[in-house]
Amino acid sequence: MLRVASVRPQSTTAGLSPNEDKRTEVFLAGCRMALSGHPCPGCFNVDLWDPKYFPEVSPAELLEDVKNAGNKYVTVVGGEPLDQYEELVLFLTLLKDNGYHTVLITHYVMDVIKTSYPDVLPLVNVIIDGTYNAKKRIFDEVDVPGVTHVIGSSNQKFWHRTDSRWQEVNIFQDDLRKAYCA
Ligand code: SF4
Repeated sequence: MLRVASVRPQSTTAGLSPNEDKRTEVFLAGCRMALSGHPCPGCFNVDLWDPKYFPEVSPAELLEDVKNAGNKYVTVVGGEPLDQYEELVLFLTLLKDNGYHTVLITHYVMDVIKTSYPDVLPLVNVIIDGTYNAKKRIFDEVDVPGVTHVIGSSNQKFWHRTDSRWQEVNIFQDDLRKAYCA
């Protein structure tokens, strides 16, 4: 079972999509790093740190919620999604099997994902990695759908998978729409 905070249909703050740049945004609850006393500097989701306040939902039930949102473009964020690794893999597998394009936002960096959370790599299309840092914030809600609308702080990296290859994308120079709308 997954601890789920909310499913936000038609989100305009979860990256680009061919559906008027709206995506279904899935907020998973719980962040072990924050609970251990080391949150991202300036964490923007303090209410999601402790998973015990949120309901348990099976991956299949969560898929139904996403289907009801009616958008094939999904962004999974937290909290920290990878702290629910095994159940997350089941959910991402369902999304992939049902033809969804998925973005995963995580504080874990790509090298750690490759060694400790490798099963998510073939299941998602885009990963935005690294701790959020409010002092390096570049996210701008007004800049829709500009490059500063897709990433929280400048230290984070944007990765795109084509087939089984992961490549870092320069958000200021490369074609983000290609990664978000593939
Ligand atoms: S991973 Fe998310 S919830 Fe955890 S400290 Fe960072 S911004 Fe906050």
